[in-house]
Amino acid sequence: MKDVIIIGAGICGLMAARQLTLKERSVTVLEARDRIGGRINTIDGRFSTHIERGAEFVHGKPKHTQALIQEAGVQTFPTEGATWEVRKGQVQRTSMFPETLQMVSEALGKLGTDITMNEFLDRHFPHPDFPEVWEDVRHVIEGFDAADLDRISAKAIHSEWSADSEFSGSRLAGGYSQLCEFLRREATNHGAEIWLSSPVATIAWTPGRVEVMTTDGDRFEARQLIITVPASVLRTGAITFSPATDRWHDAVSRIETGGVIKFLLEFRRPLWEERLRDAGFIFSDARVPTWWTQLPAGYPILSGWLSGPATLTAPRGDNLTAMAIESLAYLFDCSPETIERELRAIEIADWSRDPFSLGGYAYKTPQTPAALEVLTTPVYDTIYFAGEAFNVGDEMGTVEAALQSALRVVERMMEG
Ligand SMILES: Cc1cc2nc3c(=O)[nH]c(=O)nc-3n(C[C@H](O)[C@H](O)[C@H](O)COP(=O)(O)OP(=O)(O)OC[C@H]3O[C@@H](n4cnc5c(N)ncnc54)[C@H](O)[C@@H]3O)c2cc1C
Repeated sequence: MKDVIIIGAGICGLMAARQLTLKERSVTVLEARDRIGGRINTIDGRFSTHIERGAEFVHGKPKHTQALIQEAGVQTFPTEGATWEVRKGQVQRTSMFPETLQMVSEALGKLGTDITMNEFLDRHFPHPDFPEVWEDVRHVIEGFDAADLDRISAKAIHSEWSADSEFSGSRLAGGYSQLCEFLRREATNHGAEIWLSSPVATIAWTPGRVEVMTTDGDRFEARQLIITVPASVLRTGAITFSPATDRWHDAVSRIETGGVIKFLLEFRRPLWEERLRDAGFIFSDARVPTWWTQLPAGYPILSGWLSGPATLTAPRGDNLTAMAIESLAYLFDCSPETIERELRAIEIADWSRDPFSLGGYAYKTPQTPAALEVLTTPVYDTIYFAGEAFNVGDEMGTVEAALQSALRVVERMMEG
């Protein structure tokens, strides 16, 4: 029998596996997909350079991410370029965070009991008097947090806006997946086994012993278990527990996950230069509202971003492609045919409909801290939850949150 089974080979599961094997624990990692990395997914080959289907930026100076980048010997470089806005057909330069947010942030700092952002705005910035504040806040929260104003915690927004963080930040030369590859190598060199294409279906447990079964009927046993499956997947009941624990199910349903669809398009030339010179980020009222270039790298590649409640009603397949092309035709003030003619390659990553992520990343509601209290308390030193959604502290929804939670869980396991 192994010491530990880890469900999920995203960056959290891989970091936990590496740390445990360094401490001479025997580890089996079970991963549903046919690849490691989860929501980190750099792909090579189809575009002129590697592209990121998932995580792309290092926001601010996150301690554990920076340490891992250094250990893996990867270089980072800051994003560059001008920020443009296109609204009602008008083009203008803008800033990453609208000035109105400063005023909202100050009011958030005085908030007592936590409420949703919608309730907060209703109370302090009534819509009839502050329509622009509502519009700016909605753009940032739906765009950056992929969240619903009706659900997201006002206190979480305050700590996010007060932190030393940025929407863009730096990129990893060669791509994010190098960090996952590095951890995989380290873990397997120290004896970890990683099983791909092994979706876990059931977990039977007693204190000090777990038996995990995959959808193919393969069985694995260990003394302890770390579950790093996204909260959005767990709440569907895709994995069943025996004995069942309503407390967990209830807690996990109080963690929300925002939808994200990422569009990657490569052109024969940088079409945007005529209208949006030196563009870094472009914010707009197009159906796919946010876009960014590769600057300082000069590849004529654009990334598009649709997130939050709008993903629920987004079309599928070819209609998603058409939506991206129409959005760009509007931004560049040209015909969709021009965009199509100049298009060299396209990739659309719809994380909301990916069965092993069912969304982009988690965000906090006013009920989340109590839910995390339940989910981060180990059960008889046998079952642990980890991952970007299960991190105590301010970070949630990022690579840093996933790493921090892996390190915390391993530390707890070592304490016994
Ligand atoms: C489009 C997009 C852009 C992002 N951009 C950034 C960014 O710029 N910067 C940043 O810091 N963060 C970003 N994030 C968030 C970041 O990618 C995640 O927070 C982080 O990668 C999560 O890691 P994790 O290990 O917790 O979860 P995951 O990476 O989701 O790993 C969980 C693993 O569990 C597996 N799994 C699911 N179900 C089962 C099952 N039944 N059995 C076995 N395995 C299962 C999954 O396949 C997956 O591999 C982005 C996310 C997305 C989707």
